[in-house]
Amino acid sequence: KAISLGRYEQRVPIESTDELADLSESLNSMAESLQRHHYLQEQLITNVSHELATPLTNIGGYLEALTDGMIEDSKRTETFALMKEEVDRLSAMLSEVRTLSLLEQPQFHIKTAPLDVKDATEKILKQMEPQFEAKKVPLILHSELTKESHHLDKDRYTQILLNLLSNALKYSAPEHPVVVTLTDKKVLTIEVKDHGEGIPAKDLPYIFERFYRADQSRTRKTGGIGVGLAIVKELVEAHSGRITATSTEGTGSTFTVSFSS
Ligand code: ADP
Repeated sequence: KAISLGRYEQRVPIESTDELADLSESLNSMAESLQRHHYLQEQLITNVSHELATPLTNIGGYLEALTDGMIEDSKRTETFALMKEEVDRLSAMLSEVRTLSLLEQPQFHIKTAPLDVKDATEKILKQMEPQFEAKKVPLILHSELTKESHHLDKDRYTQILLNLLSNALKYSAPEHPVVVTLTDKKVLTIEVKDHGEGIPAKDLPYIFERFYRADQSRTRKTGGIGVGLAIVKELVEAHSGRITATSTEGTGSTFTVSFSS
């Protein structure tokens, strides 16, 4: 009854070893997964509503200033560009929420096909170039690939790399390069290395968890709802791949994705 009323923390004491105990155990594990599910839903709503607030307030402010004629003609283009940046933030967030709900659908599956990884990676880097140039962060690609193609889901591969690159950019200062290295000596490996602020050792084990954000005050400035890396990990694992991260605070971080196919 308590669980059906939403008190998911409720557990049944197990005091026997018979089939009633089995039933109690099943009930407890159901309550635990309901509790976790409920927590994730709550976090999603809290984080999304928090992250919606800043861009909307900013856009509202710019629009008010424009309609009141408070912005000189020479500053109008700049103001529109700032508004576009805020709209892009909102779109990126919406796309993360969409992917998250897609990943939760039981019918979700990846569609792999032979992919020219070097070519695909070059295209992704080209797509990110304007953002890197705007922040003066050099973006470098090293390819040591020997095979022409690898079995991957092109759209998902793009999403994995875009998320890793946008994080690398977010935490990098101007003139600190981000280097992408592709190798396939044993397995296909994609390494994204930045020379940015790094991740504190205490946070490193948790960064792939949904809604985990290292150092709240720091990440508040950079925005995001804390699901980018959780999405990356789920997409990598859907390919039966693996992702690891190493980092030193003040020196930078390296994310390594390996696909066994
Ligand atoms: P978001 O970027 O939306 O906060 P992510 O899941 O992409 O969420 O990342 C989780 C946390 O890991 C971030 O809040 C940030 O603290 C940390 N992080 C991720 N990538 C990097 C990076 N390249 N350099 C430093 N910190 C990072």
